[in-house]
Amino acid sequence: MIGFLLLGLATIVPSQTLKIEFVDSEGGGSTLIVTPTGESILIDCGNPGNRDAERIAKAAKKLGLERIDHLVVTHWHLDHYGGAGTLVRKIPVNHFWDRGIPDSLPDDPTNYPVLIAAYKDVSKGKRNTLKAGDTVPLRQTESGPRVRLSCVCGSGVPKIDSKAPAGTSVKPSQMEPDPSDNAMSLGFVLEFGDFRFLDLGDLTWNKESILVYPSNLLGKIDVYQSTHHGLEVSNHPDLMRQISPTIAIFNNGPRKGAHPRVIRDLRRLDHFEQIFQIHKNITAPDSDNAPPTHVANPAEKCQALGINLEVDPTANHYTVKVGEQPKEHRFTVSKK
Ligand SMILES: [Zn+2]
Repeated sequence: MIGFLLLGLATIVPSQTLKIEFVDSEGGGSTLIVTPTGESILIDCGNPGNRDAERIAKAAKKLGLERIDHLVVTHWHLDHYGGAGTLVRKIPVNHFWDRGIPDSLPDDPTNYPVLIAAYKDVSKGKRNTLKAGDTVPLRQTESGPRVRLSCVCGSGVPKIDSKAPAGTSVKPSQMEPDPSDNAMSLGFVLEFGDFRFLDLGDLTWNKESILVYPSNLLGKIDVYQSTHHGLEVSNHPDLMRQISPTIAIFNNGPRKGAHPRVIRDLRRLDHFEQIFQIHKNITAPDSDNAPPTHVANPAEKCQALGINLEVDPTANHYTVKVGEQPKEHRFTVSKK
């Protein structure tokens, strides 16, 4: 009888899943995470102006959030932090995390002074600097798998890990050094039990290569947010081979990212299953896009639909839902 009662109680405990909502900021960064305790993390906050801030706030409210607990900015390009000033007027943000604020930004001398002033204003007294090796402190459930957000690179420097497994054995190919702030991006691994998600912001080729050569500092990954919206100057094939993702999600725009080279390299990987895109890349043929069932917004003039991912409370499976399409795509968390 007692056993029966306990079983009865166990079934009414609310499910404590991990959710990741890929908000459509049309080629910007805006990845919203809700942990099993209900704590929220927004990695990047889209472009300046009303559009992306409105979409993020709407997505947050749909997930039942009244505030964003942590806003993490990967780097100082306007499609990643430009929306901060507007966002806080739509939904409060408790803490701000970034790579440190430079006095000037040669990449963007026109917009940076204005946008960084707005960012400083809204984050005053609430911001912290992150560097490779740091973690963002998160609350844990009493009995569920642990959730952890680790910074694996920042300001051009990878984390140090003497116990990391061997990476690629031959020095990866290199491009011309990238002097832009993309190369300074913060990068993160989000873990929930065995589930692992990678978001490297807009990190570029040469800095990606040092994460997998000579050691693999990232480990194996389940879900890969294609770096830099899926642009060709990022997504080093050696990195993608080493992390061996099961699926990739592109936060691309209709004419930005989801590059055919990146799509083809992913499809060639062992154990790789599926690609999902926020937008169809309308500049590429259908064969170099994910199938229509895996694309949230097929047309350039779009409804701004997102992609939703949910990891079950035991962290053994996860599902992906694309826009308003009824079908859920289910995947098994890989054994690392
Ligand atoms: Zn970007």
